[in-house]
Amino acid sequence: MITKKQIYFYNFSARNLPDFSKTDFDSMIVENGLIKEIGKYGNSIADDNILQCKKIDLKGAIIFPPFVDAHIHFLQTGISLLGCQLNEVNSLKKLFALVSEESKIHNYVFGWNLQESLLKEKRIPSLKELDKICQKKFVWLARADLHSAVINTVTKNWANKLLQNSEFNTQINDECNLISGEIYNFLSFKLLNEMPQNLKKKALKLAEELCFKQGVGTVHALEGNENTQDDVILTANFFKTSKLNAVIYHQSEDPTLATSNNWKQIGGCLLVDGSIGSKTAALNEDYVDTPGYRGNLYRQTEDIIKLLRMAADNKLQLAMHAIGDKAIDITAACYAWARDTYGNSYHPHRIEHFVLPSFKAIRNARLSSSFICIQPAFDYYWGGENGLYAQKLGKERALKCNPFKTLLNSGLILAGGSDSPVTPINPILGIHSLVNHKNPDEQIDLNTALSIFISEPHKLTKESGFKGFLKKGFPADFVCLSRDPFRVSKSKIKKICPTALYISGETVYKRNSLFQKLKGFINKLLNSN
Ligand SMILES: [Zn+2]
Ligand SMILES: [Zn+2]
Repeated sequence: MITKKQIYFYNFSARNLPDFSKTDFDSMIVENGLIKEIGKYGNSIADDNILQCKKIDLKGAIIFPPFVDAHIHFLQTGISLLGCQLNEVNSLKKLFALVSEESKIHNYVFGWNLQESLLKEKRIPSLKELDKICQKKFVWLARADLHSAVINTVTKNWANKLLQNSEFNTQINDECNLISGEIYNFLSFKLLNEMPQNLKKKALKLAEELCFKQGVGTVHALEGNENTQDDVILTANFFKTSKLNAVIYHQSEDPTLATSNNWKQIGGCLLVDGSIGSKTAALNEDYVDTPGYRGNLYRQTEDIIKLLRMAADNKLQLAMHAIGDKAIDITAACYAWARDTYGNSYHPHRIEHFVLPSFKAIRNARLSSSFICIQPAFDYYWGGENGLYAQKLGKERALKCNPFKTLLNSGLILAGGSDSPVTPINPILGIHSLVNHKNPDEQIDLNTALSIFISEPHKLTKESGFKGFLKKGFPADFVCLSRDPFRVSKSKIKKICPTALYISGETVYKRNSLFQKLKGFINKLLNSN
């Protein structure tokens, strides 16, 4: 006999589009992971139906369909959780203390989110300084945008050996310990390949836990590169048994892995250019602090056209990374060409980041119905008149970065992502950043901001027919929030926390109550003696 598992959830406020501010229903029966029946006030579920259910009181929680992170480097995120977190570090002294601590525990000393602009000294550590702290172990301190890293001599020797035998056929200069551009990309992939498997599996688990804690039920995971498929397979296998819903993009020009796994998409951070922080984003005008310099264009028009042909031949959706106006101009023009050439027969392609688009590029993206995957937290961290964008681009161009409202008004479909580990997995911070954009003209309303992290991303992967809403027949996937975002001032949205996440009606995350935290703390104290 098949026993049906039925749960009756009650005492909550379920929110849906078109208006996330209103209660859509407040009780439901979940059967075999799907929403079977919903009830609201006078229109309640019949007592007889409730009788046979297990009952769960959600204690007045505000519930939404789970958040989506539509741009995450999943394995890399996990690995970034294994080393030192440098985002809170404000002096070289503190940085050295962290590196020194980490080198006592691990042979690979990783640091993440280094931002010299936040350091008192306003500079990166020198080679000599790092060697003094850590002479024998491998040190790799990645800058926040993950387009450059600071290294010590051990790492430099390792890098030089690899570089000598590579297409670069070069060596890093004697005093230099900052690697960037294509050399950085080459070395960071080599580094990932050398890491032991058990460390990678631990990393994947850490990334999953972090997603659940932040209320994320679906990720678009942009993984690996053309040189290795192993990590992508490792990650794909991990997702087969995970409750986290994942859509995998293999970051490669080679469609073999995608087609053999029946994935409908390819690409991700397939770089057309780099990043503004590392001054590798390709611009139409100079960087203000380096006259005559306009960044790196890693792929030219003919390279992108070749990729679009490959995508069309294999019926794949393509995603590419473009940040600077020059890179976006070229990418959007190529996508418009593809739409003209191949018509509507395939699912529209994606442009990732789209930080500094020209009007011409926006028009082309609209013409090709391209999906735009934005990272609102970029504005939170680097936007505004005095932020990192302004330092590199000048105020005027900085205010044109991440023009979310303009993109929406032009009719483009936007999906929110973190680009984790570039910025943390934290959709609520993403929503906060959309509503509180540093350029007031580009701020968007809360309802739309929520949809960019809840329902819109599913359109990119053709999942909106069964995800992104709480309704009959849909999975009982939902996130419980500590407060109603419509009842806090907009400057405080980022303080709202997910208190629980349910996937298919089962708890995958529950925030510890104050009592449990206290109990854990006392146990720790007792055990330490
Ligand atoms: Zn990217
Ligand atoms: Zn990325």
